[in-house]
Amino acid sequence: MRRQFRKKLLFTVAAAASIALSSCKKTYEQEMAAAAETVVSVEEGDLTDSKTEISPSEAESLTSTIEPTVPASNGTTVITASGEAASVSNQNAASQAQNANSQVAGSQTQNQNSLAAAETAAVETSAPVIYENRDETVYIMSDDVNIRTTPVNGEVIGKANTGDSFHRTGYSDSWSRIEYSGQTAYVSSDYTTTKVVEKKTSESVSFDSSWEFAGNSKINSGTATLYYASGSNKKGKTVCVNAGHGTSGGERVKTLCHPDGTAKTTGGSTASGATTATAVSSGTTMADGTSEAAVNLKVAKAVKAVLLERGYNVLMIRESEDVQLDNIARTVMANERANCHIAIHYDSTSKNKGAFFMSVADGIKNMYPVSTIWQESDRLGTNIINGLSANGVKIFSNGSMQMDLTQTSYSKIPSIDLELGDKASDYSDATVITLAKGIADGLDAYFG
Ligand SMILES: [Zn+2]
Repeated sequence: MRRQFRKKLLFTVAAAASIALSSCKKTYEQEMAAAAETVVSVEEGDLTDSKTEISPSEAESLTSTIEPTVPASNGTTVITASGEAASVSNQNAASQAQNANSQVAGSQTQNQNSLAAAETAAVETSAPVIYENRDETVYIMSDDVNIRTTPVNGEVIGKANTGDSFHRTGYSDSWSRIEYSGQTAYVSSDYTTTKVVEKKTSESVSFDSSWEFAGNSKINSGTATLYYASGSNKKGKTVCVNAGHGTSGGERVKTLCHPDGTAKTTGGSTASGATTATAVSSGTTMADGTSEAAVNLKVAKAVKAVLLERGYNVLMIRESEDVQLDNIARTVMANERANCHIAIHYDSTSKNKGAFFMSVADGIKNMYPVSTIWQESDRLGTNIINGLSANGVKIFSNGSMQMDLTQTSYSKIPSIDLELGDKASDYSDATVITLAKGIADGLDAYFG
């Protein structure tokens, strides 16, 4: 009995220390994100959309003051992963854990304690979990929490995010039994609380130099914003909506056309045979003198609104006149944080020729990472053109044109450059709403 008690205590202490450590890391990251956001606010001065929503630091303060639930009647003394524990430094958390171990284990060394904790974890996770019956609403305190069919190694049947709530029917200090989509499922108790956790509505996304191909980007100090769908119709998909152009100074910087440094295989704004292209070009000017970048942004904001309403999360690359993210940075960011990537553009002709997408050029279909995704990119483009067409939008030719673009070359997710028309196209409010609906219809069909 005493040994059982010790095992339980050691395991709980180890879990508490681990929560404290991960919470510290999270706090650091979110502070960095909050700091980055402040810089953007100062430089751009117009992030009104995000200012009315919960900032990452506010979201953190909501979660950091709540305590994970512990068994209602547990006679043992444990260190709980309380907000207080989460706010101490790593060193303090480790020292608290060691002190608690010492109280029970006496003169054991730290190494022995660690080993005992690891063994205990192994024993406890392989043993049947005993649940206290519960009948309560439980909230999730973190993102990307696995929802499993059985504890520990069960199939992952879903993911829960900060603020999601479930009916909990059973509790142990390691696993919680919940109802999920009409079936019994399990989540780690470490991420649960009975206190209300607000859902995150958005977060700032900064460029991470460890991402694949990140080293080829030359302008990446800007931040994008990831908006979360909040309705009950969540699709669990994130669409990157990239308002083309709008990077001041981008036209004076060159970046590699292809990740492997090979030459461009088609013409376009950069000639075939070139190995470098403009990091972000200035774009065209509409017939009435408005910049293409401004019109792209108008459409992107309308698309964002419709997609959020339909249950998609939306990664907005640019939400004001300027964002310091080149085409490679935008693409790499989409690769890491979205399920597909749509760049909004208008062509430089003056014929009101209609909408089309840039399909993948034959010359790069065997090049990594294009080789892994080009069929899906073309399928995405075809679905979106069909969605636009079904909404009465004029389509150019057969709706696509092969092009070797930087965006395509670096994309690991389905990705298109969508040309919604040209300099002579109408972009009135009514037309833009129709375009947004057509794009959303196309995405619904694509993800069908
Ligand atoms: Zn453009």
